[in-house]
Amino acid sequence: MAFRLERVNYDINSPNEAVRTCLQKKKQMSAAVGQGGFNGIGKESCCAYVSWGNNNRICSAIGVSRNRSLFCKSGQFSTAYIHGELDAIVQAIEENNALPHFHQIYIEMSPCPKCTAALNNLLPDNQVVYFSFDYQTERELWAAAARRL
Ligand SMILES: [Zn+2]
Repeated sequence: MAFRLERVNYDINSPNEAVRTCLQKKKQMSAAVGQGGFNGIGKESCCAYVSWGNNNRICSAIGVSRNRSLFCKSGQFSTAYIHGELDAIVQAIEENNALPHFHQIYIEMSPCPKCTAALNNLLPDNQVVYFSFDYQTERELWAAAARRL
């Protein structure tokens, strides 16, 4: 048993809240720095969205694939490579002080083999993980779609 992948359209106006929120936030974060964007986050930074409940409040986090991760607790940069889905889950664990039960998970591309193993350890069986492009075979399609956001 494992988590379940479900493909959804790559649409910034998607009726799926996870997709819409992730892509709208990505568009903001990957804009030029002078226009509200963040240094080091580009159209080809694979983004992920997770949401969970905490005391009747819905919380969410956006994760970004990156070469250097800032671990909040130490304030130090690590050189570890982290993909968007793990970045989002790490933020959720930090905010929730424990691994939450996720309502929604969306990743622009399906998980790579390493993240698949991590997600299988972290997520309950049958947890739905939405994605839009296949990591192994659709990278170019994804990159082109991301540039058009
Ligand atoms: Zn990965």
